[in-house]
Amino acid sequence: MSRFWNNRVRALEPYVPGEQPRERRLIKLNTNENPYPPSPRVIAAIREAAGEGLRLYPDPRCTALREAVAEAYRVRPEQVFAGNGSDEVLAFAFAAFFPSAGDILPVEPGPFGGGPGGTRPVLFPDITYSFYPVYAGLWDIPFRTIPLTNDFSINAEDYLFPAGGVIFPNPNAPTGRALPLKDILSVTGYQGNAGRVVIVDEAYGAFGGESTVPHIQEYPNLLTIHTLSKAASLAGLRVGFAIGQEELIQGLSRIRDSFNSYTLDRLALAGAVAAVSDTAYYHKINQQIIHTRERVSARLREWGFEVIPSAANFIFIRHPRLSGAAVFAALRERGILVRRFDKPRIRDYLRVSIGTDEDMDELLRQLQNQAD
Ligand code: PMP
Repeated sequence: MSRFWNNRVRALEPYVPGEQPRERRLIKLNTNENPYPPSPRVIAAIREAAGEGLRLYPDPRCTALREAVAEAYRVRPEQVFAGNGSDEVLAFAFAAFFPSAGDILPVEPGPFGGGPGGTRPVLFPDITYSFYPVYAGLWDIPFRTIPLTNDFSINAEDYLFPAGGVIFPNPNAPTGRALPLKDILSVTGYQGNAGRVVIVDEAYGAFGGESTVPHIQEYPNLLTIHTLSKAASLAGLRVGFAIGQEELIQGLSRIRDSFNSYTLDRLALAGAVAAVSDTAYYHKINQQIIHTRERVSARLREWGFEVIPSAANFIFIRHPRLSGAAVFAALRERGILVRRFDKPRIRDYLRVSIGTDEDMDELLRQLQNQAD
């Protein structure tokens, strides 16, 4: 604690990102980056943008990118918001749509509180992207976590209550499990309280699961969030976007324009337009990742590992006889970096990003030694 920190900073519990090691030799399977390079068209577009045009501010409305996304997803540009990574889009969405403590709602109390003078909490799973509680803390938004079932599934019925809002990733992280579209739409269509926004974070949607994007026209309270970090191999460029009806997009723009109008720079905008337009290239590399994921999952199961069925570019694994901390340390010792969350229910699991076939073969060799 510093005497210079105000109360807001003192109260924060910041997110801890996965390690970005400086040693190049490590096989890096800890932050769900894509192991394949971005489309060559992306690199060419960034090179072209790296010129004297940098003198000028970028387009604050990200018009060209929103048009490219609209075309790729068959929506209108007014239904797209672009931000500096989906983390920024998520942070803005929490700020724009979820009620802060002290927001007075003229409603009857629900099972999770609320009512006149109270604030209904936002709902998300107990095991999910660990940035959600951090954003809630930043904006002072009450939340309640809903336990996943024993097999780490989201049970949609648990979300059919009046709430300040709902958010979950589909596929979920770090489990990799996908929730069927009909269940997501039952949560979205729940009529128990007005003004409840449902945010579906489809960061890993390109690797499995059914997208909610085609349903934004039917559900005015549905906001779908995508990122170029995983599926488009552009974690280093920092581009994410939200797709939803215009009133939601305008809510996000109001937050952005009260914070920093130019969240995406000229290089990121140029690269992102090229990425969104090159669906053929990305389809090919992401199919390869799915293929590798299935091969590695099957092999690990043969060796007695529990592998949660994954629809993402990572797997969540555990060996019934081995502690997660021990396997993590042994892999690290042998130059393989994976992610472990020291949290109830998941301490003994490791989240392993899907790398190239070569990297995964090395992982398999090391895990086989552990399991023998
Ligand atoms: N959502 C989920 C579920 C994630 O796992 C991540 C990656 N850490 C993000 C959003 C954020 O991705 P980015 O900011 O790189 O777009």
